[in-house]
Amino acid sequence: AKFEDAGLHPVMLDNIKLCRYNVPTPIQAYVLPSVLKGIDIIGIAQTGSGKTAAYLIPTLSKLMGKAKKLVAPRPILTRPWTREDAVRAEPLILVIAPTRELSTQIFDEARRLCYRSMLRPCVVYGGAPTGEQMDELRKGCDVLIATPGRLMDFMQRGHLLSLSRVRYTIVDEADEMVSPDWVDDIRQIMGGDSNEDDDHVYMMFSATFPKEARAVAKEYMAKDHVRIRV
Ligand code: AMP
Repeated sequence: AKFEDAGLHPVMLDNIKLCRYNVPTPIQAYVLPSVLKGIDIIGIAQTGSGKTAAYLIPTLSKLMGKAKKLVAPRPILTRPWTREDAVRAEPLILVIAPTRELSTQIFDEARRLCYRSMLRPCVVYGGAPTGEQMDELRKGCDVLIATPGRLMDFMQRGHLLSLSRVRYTIVDEADEMVSPDWVDDIRQIMGGDSNEDDDHVYMMFSATFPKEARAVAKEYMAKDHVRIRV
């Protein structure tokens, strides 16, 4: 398999080259075409398999093709940004991850893959002050990478953030995210108002897939979801 033959947006192909990803890893070879077709995915893969790019490349590529229609216009400022310029964060892609370290790694990869596109990624996580993260959201957010606790906190601050436009929801390290501490938040996040939309794509990635994770998948994913193990 080749990235060039996958039907990806030209900006994405350039960014893949800048990342020096020459050929898709096995998980990427399986996940890319399924996501491009809009199929829900359970991916069973270890860290190091390239799973982050497996879900970021096709979802970002899809949005690049529709960016003019989907992405809320943001003014190009010729002066420093101020709170007066704030917009509501209405991400189209939502990635949930259990820790600050993992969410930051996903964000770094998202930033490289969004280069020279209209898409703006943001990351929010607990254990850090909220002010700077809130200002980043207020500058606009198309791709949100979040730990569940901080995401719930920001959701409750009314005007800051809305998940009503999310088209792709990805749960990374799903085995941890379905632990008793998190599963209620995960259900609330996955069951947001945008899941009425038939186009909504769900993905769950994990090294193992315990029965708690299978139960959540069954609740939210379409019947024709695919299971990919590498
Ligand atoms: P992950 O499994 O997402 O933690 O990725 C592990 C590492 O593989 C990351 O440092 C990625 O930058 C790198 N990577 C992802 N996809 C590819 C690829 N197709 N070719 C080479 N390296 C890759």
